[in-house]
Amino acid sequence: MVRRDARLRRDGARASGATAVGDGGAATIQRMTTKDSALQPSSWHERAAQLRPDGRALIDGRREALRDAARYTKSSPIDGRVLGEVAAGDAGDIDRAVAVARRTFDSGVWSALRPAVRKKILLRYAEAIASARDELALLETLDVGKPITDSLEMDVPATVRTIRWYAEAVDKIYGEVAPTGADALATVTREPVGVVGAIIPWNFPLLMASWKIGPVLAAGNSLVLKPSEKSSYTALRLADLALEAGVPPGVFNVVPGFGPTAGKALAASMDVDAIGFTGSTATGKLVMQYAGQSNMKRVGLECGGKSANIVFADCADLDAAARAAATAIFFNQGEMCSAGSRLLVEESIRDDLLARIAQVAREFAPGDPLDPATRLGALVDESQLQRVLAYIDAGRAEGASVTLGGRRVRKSSGGYYVEPTIFTAVRPQMRIAREEIFGPVLVSSTFRTADEAIALANDSIYGLAAAVWTRDLTRAHRTARALRAGTVYVNCYDADDITVPFGGFRQSGIGRDKSLHAFDKYTELKTTWIELG
Ligand code: NAD
Repeated sequence: MVRRDARLRRDGARASGATAVGDGGAATIQRMTTKDSALQPSSWHERAAQLRPDGRALIDGRREALRDAARYTKSSPIDGRVLGEVAAGDAGDIDRAVAVARRTFDSGVWSALRPAVRKKILLRYAEAIASARDELALLETLDVGKPITDSLEMDVPATVRTIRWYAEAVDKIYGEVAPTGADALATVTREPVGVVGAIIPWNFPLLMASWKIGPVLAAGNSLVLKPSEKSSYTALRLADLALEAGVPPGVFNVVPGFGPTAGKALAASMDVDAIGFTGSTATGKLVMQYAGQSNMKRVGLECGGKSANIVFADCADLDAAARAAATAIFFNQGEMCSAGSRLLVEESIRDDLLARIAQVAREFAPGDPLDPATRLGALVDESQLQRVLAYIDAGRAEGASVTLGGRRVRKSSGGYYVEPTIFTAVRPQMRIAREEIFGPVLVSSTFRTADEAIALANDSIYGLAAAVWTRDLTRAHRTARALRAGTVYVNCYDADDITVPFGGFRQSGIGRDKSLHAFDKYTELKTTWIELG
């Protein structure tokens, strides 16, 4: 889903960091220069202490006052500190935001703008996000527990690149003329679908938001975004920055809130034309139901995964495979839809590969997320911690062996940390082999033949990603073709770019995010038939 080793691939989208981005109800923080952020842990702690995140909804270009009955307190998973209050939007808030989005869409204030003008505003928006890099990165780290270096070097730059890429696409999309014959002219054009509702998860709050915001706004739609209740702050700041960049008020609204209230109201709205959902498969199925029970809105789903990483004995570079396998599950605390959570290794190299992976895992010792040296931060909250620990217990109870980690650590910090964990002797029917754990837990098993590896890899309800490591070109192609997954990596894991689509086969989802294919979700095709005969 995202390039995991941020340190290996610095995006180039670095922000100067010091540019003024007006405050508008924003989190207040003294902005830093890139040089400053070369940083001691203490300086991030000092900045964090000054932070006053703003959790108020943003509807029609204004932050709305928090209501007593509809707010909740958000704590940081890094140490339990209280970050602030967040609006718990209800169905009424969603309906208001949808009505505003409808009004702005119908007015043409954004939808009817010339593409070149929309492009200019969105490019300015990308730069505004880049300029707020340090503030957004700090908010993201405090909110969800990921290491500050990852937030700075991966999440924010990838978000900037996404918005910039869709901005640049705006005035390069042409319609078609159908080959009907001389007696007619039939054009096939793309129009914005109208009002889009986006519902997103907490594991990459900025990036998942940008995968919706980019194509939705570039296509000329109006948007109501509902972030996860575990991670609302950066989504709200993204909406502030869009306003400051010139996106008209009411085009991009954010209503924080809980899934069964705000999320359901958005997915069940009679006036939302499309939902872009990213989250678990279980919730994705509910979103489909709400669409069917309401106005048959179109639904794009980016859901869960249990991706297989197959390493053949003829792998050309076992160290590279080990590094990729470890990073594929320990980056972002394993809270990754496309995590390489199932390692399938050819029997003859099992011990060698696992020893190398365990070696790399040492670099992922859980640490203070505000320390720039930390590579494995905190799980997002107590419930996620308990979920991961319960899976570790279940794996043990079902007879798998823990060969690395397996424990909660840093408990005295008040945060939620789990060691990088590796299971061996995992059988395909075990829960840890079938279900998405969403934590730093690698399950490994062995195979003897390519057919067996493919059968094991495909033995899943999911189909988000898969990988194959071999120096045999024919085997690489054959295996890649046989794997039922939206993305297959060959001799790498998680290589990525905004230019390629991302999404799943099977219960990993419907439709694709990223690339020009994302426009399929947020545009309607119109045929105009002109009789010439
Ligand atoms: P989740 O399904 O619990 O929540 C996702 C979003 O849906 C949140 O905003 C939540 O508030 C909302 N929601 C919850 N119940 C709802 C309901 N009844 N109606 C409408 N909305 C509702 O998922 P999560 O725990 O936030 O995220 C983790 C999941 O996301 C994992 O399964 C992961 O694989 C998946 N994910 C997928 C991708 C992808 O691109 N395929 C990317 C990131 C995460």
